[in-house]
Amino acid sequence: MDIQRLPQIQEQLRSSPAEAIVAWALETFGERFAVGTSFGAEAMVLMDIVHRVQKGVPFVFLDTGFHFHDTLALVEQARARYDVNLIVAKTDLTPQQQAEHYGDQLFLHDPDRCCELRKVEPMRRALAGFEAWATGRRSDQNADRANARAVEWDAKFELFKVNPLKDWSWDDIRSYLALHEIPYNRLHDMGYPSIGCAPCTQPVKPGQDLRAGRWAGTGKSECGLHK
Ligand code: SF4
Repeated sequence: MDIQRLPQIQEQLRSSPAEAIVAWALETFGERFAVGTSFGAEAMVLMDIVHRVQKGVPFVFLDTGFHFHDTLALVEQARARYDVNLIVAKTDLTPQQQAEHYGDQLFLHDPDRCCELRKVEPMRRALAGFEAWATGRRSDQNADRANARAVEWDAKFELFKVNPLKDWSWDDIRSYLALHEIPYNRLHDMGYPSIGCAPCTQPVKPGQDLRAGRWAGTGKSECGLHK
């Protein structure tokens, strides 16, 4: 797609439902469209919606080596339910090798470097060759995401980023999961609205930002995929 058309497409899709945004992306980008998935609540909703619109779409999951067991169990549940065309992206660096090269618990003393090694670079390789990718970002998750548009230019990965759930609330997500009996990470019922790597994810208190449990107390709010 010509990037010059982006403002026109943004206006066209401004109030479109998620299914219509996904259908537009599939029609526009065809096989050069992938979906990023963390297997969080939004990701499970997006997986269900994409599956309803078209089967066989590639999903990219970052296996950082630091996920909760519950997240990895959900990956297998989702594979069974959706027969997911799953691309598992990961660094060649094992957690042990990372500790030897960069020091133990890099996620504590340099989380940006850890995310770059275990998330950003593997995602960059996984997305090479695609023209667009979709994410489960929602505009009310935090200030960084407040201006999410249905389609954006992703300068970091140099491709289009599609945000079909940009207008969904957390309640919308929970309602959709319940209505369609979609499997989800049981940590969501234990105070974790946003789930990333185990060492960098804590439960949140009532009234806190839904992503406040990610890298809590560090000032970091995004892993680098969306900055
Ligand atoms: Fe490392 Fe934490 Fe980033 Fe995971 S979220 S890659 S453990 S810093």
